[in-house]
Amino acid sequence: MGGLSVITLREGADAERVRRALVGLGMWVSPLRAHGDEASRQLLVHEYSAAVDPDRLLAIEGVASVGESASAHPRLDAQAPVVEVSGHRIGAGEPTTWMAGPCSVEAEHQIGALAARLAGLGIHFLRGGAFKPRTSPYAFAGHGHEALRWLRRAADAHGLKVVTEAMDGEEAGAVAEVADLVQVGSRNMHNYTLLRAVGRTGRPVLLKRGMAATVEEWLQAAEHCLVHGAPSVVLCERGIRSFDSCTRNVLDLGAVALLANVYHLPVIVDPSHGVGRRDLVAPLARAALAAGAAGILVETHDDPGSALSDGPQALLPEDLSALVGRG
Ligand code: PEP
Ligand code: MN
Repeated sequence: MGGLSVITLREGADAERVRRALVGLGMWVSPLRAHGDEASRQLLVHEYSAAVDPDRLLAIEGVASVGESASAHPRLDAQAPVVEVSGHRIGAGEPTTWMAGPCSVEAEHQIGALAARLAGLGIHFLRGGAFKPRTSPYAFAGHGHEALRWLRRAADAHGLKVVTEAMDGEEAGAVAEVADLVQVGSRNMHNYTLLRAVGRTGRPVLLKRGMAATVEEWLQAAEHCLVHGAPSVVLCERGIRSFDSCTRNVLDLGAVALLANVYHLPVIVDPSHGVGRRDLVAPLARAALAAGAAGILVETHDDPGSALSDGPQALLPEDLSALVGRG
């Protein structure tokens, strides 16, 4: 045994005794599922465990079977196809989840007024960056902790949930205190320290795909969050880099169809960052839903011309209204 393996225990086995026996043999193990009846019946044996003959493992009282894991992200595979975030269900067979709001939370009155408009349109999650990853160090980087408070207040006043980004481990706890869903941005998908810190907050995670990440890397990044304590991960396709710059990115709807229809994972699509221009956001959102997306995340602004970030891709609330009506 060298790779990631799964040990299944017999019904009624003493899971703690089995675990101790495995640890005694130099194995590193963790439960495959974090919760539920099955939680202690299936154990993952980590790759860096000592190599032990499977027959020795099968000889441990309570062990029913030992096998290689078919996947590098078994916990994500074991996640239910529909996940619950503060009582809101996201996934196949559920009504489309809508997430909307400005790229950056710019001012308390702005987010408050926008939240009122969005709630009226049936939007479920209010989004907005308080901590903004920016390519240029001279660009607006967000109002930080103050913006988190504005966002939560605006959402609470209108019965909305909050999704917002954590950029580093130090502030993950503060973000998780106000966010129903903690976003990890594209630029941070490979930041394993952050994935761990966000997982440890115990909040569900919205994991954006790295702009040059393969689907497999993306799914293993989700696995990091789950291993470290996230109750669930919702994936967010937001466009990948390509040779062609005619649109901001290339929205990978093939990956969305794969994840939704073959892997049965909840995927949200962000056409705003995917395409970078407002006139193409609605057609791509509709295409994403046709491909199996569980929901759509759209940057929305009351005055896109004056937005502090990503104005060219922001929809006006009235444009969003037409889109949601068709969703
Ligand atoms: C965002 O959604 O605010 C954002 C920065 O997007 P991305 O990480 O996909 O670039
Ligand atoms: Mn943006």
